[in-house]
Amino acid sequence: MKIGLEMHVALPTKSKLFCSCSTEQVEEPNVNICPICMGFPGSRPVLNAEAVRIAKAIATVLKCEVKDKISFIRKIYFYPDLPKSFQITQLSEAIGSKGSLAITDKDVGIRRIQIEEDPAKIVRQDNYSLIDFNRSGVPLVEIVTEPDIASEDELKEAVSTLRSVLYYIGVDVEQEVKTDLNISLGDERVEIKNVTGVRNLIYAAEYEIKRQGEIVQKGKQPEKETRSFDEQTRTTKSSRKKESEEEYGFIYEPDLTDYETSGLKVGEPIIPHEEAARISSEFGFSYKTVLELISFDRNSLSLLSKSAGKFDQKAVISTLEDLKKFDSTGIGQEGFEKLVRMSADGVTITQSIVSGIKSGREVTVKRATQDEIDAAITELLTKDRTLLEKYKENKNVVNFIVGQISRKYGLQPKDVLDRIKFIIQRMSDN
Ligand SMILES: [Zn+2]
Repeated sequence: MKIGLEMHVALPTKSKLFCSCSTEQVEEPNVNICPICMGFPGSRPVLNAEAVRIAKAIATVLKCEVKDKISFIRKIYFYPDLPKSFQITQLSEAIGSKGSLAITDKDVGIRRIQIEEDPAKIVRQDNYSLIDFNRSGVPLVEIVTEPDIASEDELKEAVSTLRSVLYYIGVDVEQEVKTDLNISLGDERVEIKNVTGVRNLIYAAEYEIKRQGEIVQKGKQPEKETRSFDEQTRTTKSSRKKESEEEYGFIYEPDLTDYETSGLKVGEPIIPHEEAARISSEFGFSYKTVLELISFDRNSLSLLSKSAGKFDQKAVISTLEDLKKFDSTGIGQEGFEKLVRMSADGVTITQSIVSGIKSGREVTVKRATQDEIDAAITELLTKDRTLLEKYKENKNVVNFIVGQISRKYGLQPKDVLDRIKFIIQRMSDN
């Protein structure tokens, strides 16, 4: 089985690739537009340096050969979402080539990283179509892999690793990412075009692997063709039988000069799985646990890197896991270390403790014995003599006790509730 990806990722720039229009995708159509991104005759593109810088960062982190000097080409085709009849893109002069993405068992080759403009968006109505140019000219990077992926599991890992690597560059690969997927279980290449979103990409692959697998099992060969993915039924269907590759016209883009990339600063690349390997081997954490914690959380990576080795490792990891359960934005290194110390002392971290530390309040958690906790619960239960009667009708009447006890002793509400049930049982047995 051979699987390759062509993933189109939108770059997080404020303005479009060749004009100063905002990249913000607003509800109202055709507001962030100008003659350049609408392709008016005579308009001239001006390259957005920030887009090139982010593309260079992606090429660097994917270990590509990065070109010092790039240029652009026109890919010529007619379609209503591209009224100037060509898309400005890159091919052999692309910013990155010959890179790799490491997954567990292999390196997936990266053939090319190219910068290009997004076309407009076609909104289909019953018997007509509308065009929204807000998206036209949004900077994209197309990441083209070699067909090195050999199973569904490898595909999932490659996509997740790629997403995590891009996350650390500030590129969010979630809803809108468009991918062309080529999958061959036989000799011929089958391409599934324009799959939107990461989840659909996996669904499309699952369906296609099964479909082609059944053909191969019958001793036949899947045909060479282009297919489309139906999000409703999660199936693919044939859209074009291919006799040969599409033939586009390509010419050099005369309105853009060669662009020097060597001066663009991309910073030290952060490769999450390499960071996870380093932290886990240096401090004795489990690789898988660390990778899960940091894959999409730069705050966790920073806290972990700075605290590892200073504290008991179990306390560091469990505190990080606790933080994911609560609103902990802005907790900071100092606050985090306080929590780790508490956690090492056996305190269960709760939202109120986290909030207290965030607000800079002095948080003191009384560590009580089971007997003391039981006594406090019993006291609250016996304060109101009607409470036990009411409890038979409505279990929620003890919620206020859960709240008070869990806050006072830094316990999880669920544990407190279990204890209350136990004590009520004991009281009614007597
Ligand atoms: Zn514009």
